[in-house]
Formats: sequence, structure tokens, C-alpha cells
Amino acid sequence: MRFGITVLGSGSRGNAILIHTEDEGVLVDAGFSRKELIARLAVCGLDPKKIKALLISHEHGDHVNGARLFSDDFEIPTYLTAGTGLFLDNLGKLGKKRVFFETGSIFEVKPFSVRPFSVPHDAEDPVGFVISLDSTRVGIATDLGHMNSLCMQRLRDCDALILECNHDVEMQNRSDRSIKLRKRVLGKRGHLSNDDAMKALDFLVTEKTRFIFLVHVSSDCNEYSLVQEVGNRKLADIGRQDIRLTVVSQDKPSETIWIL
Ligand SMILES: [Zn+2]
Ligand SMILES: [Zn+2]
Repeated sequence: MRFGITVLGSGSRGNAILIHTEDEGVLVDAGFSRKELIARLAVCGLDPKKIKALLISHEHGDHVNGARLFSDDFEIPTYLTAGTGLFLDNLGKLGKKRVFFETGSIFEVKPFSVRPFSVPHDAEDPVGFVISLDSTRVGIATDLGHMNSLCMQRLRDCDALILECNHDVEMQNRSDRSIKLRKRVLGKRGHLSNDDAMKALDFLVTEKTRFIFLVHVSSDCNEYSLVQEVGNRKLADIGRQDIRLTVVSQDKPSETIWIL
């Protein structure tokens, strides 16, 4: 069975990641409108009816904007923590079919197994995911203020890593953003900087690692070209230019990468 990753788009205006085989898949987050999700799936030649589950990382709009309509229209169950679920349900933003998972407990969405883990981010009960097909694993952490030891353990030794590379600290400090917003982004429960993401790779990358996607790139405090540059430099520094690096855009899906 093949195991593919297609990031439909990532950034503060919407996030959605498709983890799939040749004929079915799971969607991690639905931060684009239902219409936009369908359009982006179509670009990749994927029928929404083939999505078995919608996994939600946390309740911020850029991860859930299309979740309710997408889930209800295609009768796809939404998997999320009780904390995230309660928050969304109170706002009427949660689809009818829902499955609550325990952070830290592995569950199956055939043919995949999913292990959610807590991440430090300013939301109700935010999680990252490790999604496996047999012994092939993809680790996903799109919004996190810093790399704590749990995130390090979960994300280490994956075949593919989808990791936040949000901002350049200097661009953040020089930006027109309010002090409050800058504090939030730079805080322990905000977003991961380019430097922090690169530093984490020292521990996360192992012999098993073959693919890295850098995601949630800030539109005003970062540049795709800068992320590509720091990523390339890091891989050269650790002698791993064999790893395929993809910097994911906000505006269009990444190419599909088959990791198996
Ligand atoms: Zn967030
Ligand atoms: Zn986000």
C-alpha cells in the first residue's frame, strides 16, 4: 500500500493536510472554506468522499473554518479532544458526526493509526499527531510555541516531518504588529520560529527521516525563500542533503509526496 502526503495549504489564512493512500485518506485540519477544500482536493485529483476522517489539532479558525460544513456535507466524522470539541460545539462550529479521542492514546482510522500528543499552544487542548501505516510514520506539529520534551520524543524518528517554521524573530521584532500580538507569537504557547524549528531538527532527524515539510510560514514576518534557505543550510550542516525539503505555501497545495 502506498502512503502519501499532500499539504493542501498552510499559514494563518488556512491549514489542511491530507495523509492518504492511493484511494483513501484522512484530513488533518480544515482551515479553508468547504468550497476551497473541495477545489484544492480536486487539484490533487482527490474526491472528498474518499476522506475517512477529519482530525482537528485545535480550535483556531485557520484550522477549523471549513470543518463543520465539510464534515456534515460528506458525512465525515470529526476526531478531536473533548476540550476542542466543547469549544467548537458552543460556537456551533462542529459537525454532527464526532469522535472524541484521549490525548496520548492511539486510535485507528483504517488503514492508519493515529497518536495525538499535547503541544504548547494558546488553545483549549491543542495536539500534534503521529500518523502511521505499519512502521512508516509522519509527525505533524503545525502550531506550537516551543519544543518541549514530549513533542521532541513524539516527533523524533519519523519518516516524514511536518513542522511549523512560523517566523524570523528579527522580522517579528521589526514588524508593525502590536506588542500584544508579538508577545503572543513569540511566547511559550505561540508559534515556532525558524531558529527554534532548525534547532529541533538536530534531535528530530534520524536515519529514518527522509522528508521534511516546513509549514505555517508567516506572511508578514517570514519569507518562503528564507525558510528554504535556512532549511537547506541546516540539512547541509547535519550532512543530510538527501532529505527532501518542501516549504509549503498558503496559496496552493504542495505536490504529493509518496513516502511509501
Ligand atoms: Zn493556532
Ligand atoms: Zn494556526
